[in-house]
Amino acid sequence: MANAIDGTQSQTRTAEEVNIDIVKQMANLVASSLGPRGRDKMLVDNTGGATFTNDGATILRETKFEHPTTKIIVGLAKTIESEAYDGTTSGILLAGELCRQAEMLMKEGVHVAQIEDGFEIGRKAALEHLITLGLKDFTLEQIAGTAMTGKQAGMSKEHLTKMCINAATKTKPSEVNMVIRPGSSITDSYDLEDGIIIDKQKMNHGMVEHIVDAHIALFDCDLIIPKFTEGVNVNFQTGADADAYSQKRKADILSIGAHLKDMGVSVVVGGRDIDPVLSEYFARNDMMAIRRCNASLLELIAEATGGMIVSSIGDLAKEDLGHCGEIYEHSLPSWDKPVLHIAKLHENQQRHSVLCTGPSQEAADEVARALDDAIGVTWLAHTSSDVVTGGGAPQVSMALYVQQVANTIEGLEQLAVEAYSKALEIIPLTLAKNCGHNPRLSVINLKASHGQGNTDAFLNVANGGVITGNPYEVIEPMGVIEVGLKAATTAAIQILRIDNIIQARDPNQFGA
Ligand code: ADP
Ligand code: MG
Repeated sequence: MANAIDGTQSQTRTAEEVNIDIVKQMANLVASSLGPRGRDKMLVDNTGGATFTNDGATILRETKFEHPTTKIIVGLAKTIESEAYDGTTSGILLAGELCRQAEMLMKEGVHVAQIEDGFEIGRKAALEHLITLGLKDFTLEQIAGTAMTGKQAGMSKEHLTKMCINAATKTKPSEVNMVIRPGSSITDSYDLEDGIIIDKQKMNHGMVEHIVDAHIALFDCDLIIPKFTEGVNVNFQTGADADAYSQKRKADILSIGAHLKDMGVSVVVGGRDIDPVLSEYFARNDMMAIRRCNASLLELIAEATGGMIVSSIGDLAKEDLGHCGEIYEHSLPSWDKPVLHIAKLHENQQRHSVLCTGPSQEAADEVARALDDAIGVTWLAHTSSDVVTGGGAPQVSMALYVQQVANTIEGLEQLAVEAYSKALEIIPLTLAKNCGHNPRLSVINLKASHGQGNTDAFLNVANGGVITGNPYEVIEPMGVIEVGLKAATTAAIQILRIDNIIQARDPNQFGA
């Protein structure tokens, strides 16, 4: 990808050619990962660490791109991921194919403005048709199951589907907190309904295991008095002075502990460090402490428990304390460290948490990605979106409709509307190809079946044939297809409009 263009190449190739080429290459990169038989990518970083995934958004996020045009496609993946939770690979493929179709039209002398107009007509027609394809009487299991097929996690689909539905029917995907802990089988993954799971351990082994009715103090400062070695200069005349200083330091620290205890604090959550003397005090007084929680974790705990984060002991008031019914560590024998459950949250602070595990870090990471997508689409189907048959059915149906619309358009725009229709076929074509079937033949048969009135005919990945009769085996939220279509068309048009790549002035060049 890095060699797709440099400053000198742009003198011999037009900006359109270079940009289209880049988008086609990016689409090629993710194409083989589409669908239930999609292959995984192994992404290696410069420290030798590897990610195994077939998630389109992850592939793009982790791949190093250098050309600025790639930003548009990475942005497309992000838009789809944040609005529809799934469908990124399909969106990138569609953008790539729209660009490829546009390139062919440009070679035939069709102007970019006409292509843009034709693509807009195509998008409008496709979306108009999509809403006629909605299905009723589906189950959330079917939705979650479709989202997980093809990922490694698909092998433990039944178990993960249950977790996914638990989460998606209770909270917004953005409020589901997820922790990854490798070292056990995928089916050891679990969800916690009324609390948050955090990747932290109590600071000191001697601390209590389990706290009921916990009152939580949250600090984003150190709870520590600097040691001599940490740049504090104190001059002592005698050894007794030094001892007295040391005692005083200890007493100061212990008074912090006593102050917290008197206030009724049972759990201390520190954003930074906590003095070992203080930690000892907490342990002896049946209190628990966790430290070095980063800002987002501190905020998560504060929100979930209704507490306020304060910046010094003196600032802490009783009403700043968070509260929950139970806090305890949880672990499996094969894990290298436990996680902490902050559970039984108040009614109005309900959260849902998921712990993803797998035999290796990579497997556990991929379970988390699969669940993340699946929870998103299940929530979408549960709350807002109609669903449609997947497996290429909506794209074939829309392609046929858009082709009909194209036939009514006068002028060269007709060719662009037709091209839009052809571009939609990239989804069933790629699904068939990834399953080892003749893609053209599969799509021809799908089109024939749709032509005969089967608006839900989708690809049989086992034999490249057609499945009809609406068996609800493969369904997905209409919103995923809608968002993908809109965003991919916008990205393709944005790329086609660029007619010049100019190196922008370095903002520091003239001291500006
Ligand atoms: P994306 O990032 O676009 O979601 P996926 O790799 O998840 O990419 O593939 C999604 C596509 O695979 C959708 O078109 C979906 O309908 C299709 N698909 C999923 N399961 C099946 C199946 N069992 N049979 C046919 N198509 C399927
Ligand atoms: Mg998907």
